Amino acid sequence: MAEIVLDNVTKQYPDGAVAVRDVDIEIADGEFIILVGPSGCGKSTTLNMIAGLEDITAGELRIGGERVNERAPKDRDIAMVFQSYALYPHMTVKENMAFPLRLAKVDDTTVEKKVRDAAEILDLTQHLDRKPSNLSGGQRQRVAMGRAIVRSPKAFLMDEPLSNLDAKLRVQMRTSVSRLQKQLGTTTVYVTHDQTEAMTLGDRVVVMRGGAVQQLGAPQFLYDNP
Ligand code: ADP
Ligand code: ADP
Repeated sequence: MAEIVLDNVTKQYPDGAVAVRDVDIEIADGEFIILVGPSGCGKSTTLNMIAGLEDITAGELRIGGERVNERAPKDRDIAMVFQSYALYPHMTVKENMAFPLRLAKVDDTTVEKKVRDAAEILDLTQHLDRKPSNLSGGQRQRVAMGRAIVRSPKAFLMDEPLSNLDAKLRVQMRTSVSRLQKQLGTTTVYVTHDQTEAMTLGDRVVVMRGGAVQQLGAPQFLYDNP
């Protein structure tokens, strides 16, 4: 677990577009932060800079007190979940979730325990031997989340993880996401354009507009600013 600090961070794409400008955000250890705002306001770019998928043009990014601007994604000890689940279709739920641990040469007993624990939190215990093709969208996304967190990363990043699901499933999945984050206590950054998700999921909300932070605070203190 670790705090994440964006210190005056700017992103200018090679075509000249400034997607994120002078952003300062301090995310506490274990905090659940939501980035919200209209399409094109810079949410994904901000998340991708934290993940290392996009270079930072100016400013500094620190994870757990260390500057990580130049660090490759795999060396940042973060986990990420996207709108698409990208599960391995030929592997069972259990094998999908165990995969990052197998790659890291974790011993069988530990793999078994970590996968069981994650499955328990995510309500997947009954489905461990199924293939992804036999799961609902919500179940698939929960497997993707389980696979992301089994290695106990310093930070957990999610980009519109519920956007592919229908309205009813989204409501159910909000409960799963909250419970997962609370039980793990992992510093989490969650991107959404959905106001309800923004107001119900996190500890604090960052409202972005035109690449800048427009508001930052607990959901109950955000004012309406269309
Ligand atoms: P989102 O739903 O996150 O806003 P978009 O549909 O805007 O996603 O973007 C999808 C992909 O297209 C991303 O990889 C993004 O970096 C890229 N992209 C978005 N806008 C541009 C642009 N103006 N020029 C080039 N690539 C872009
Ligand atoms: P959001 O996630 O809030 O929808 P993005 O971070 O995807 O916003 O995009 C922020 C801005 O940066 C938009 O104006 C988008 O067009 C632009 N952008 C995103 N990706 C690229 C890219 N690869 N090249 C150029 N411009 C981009």
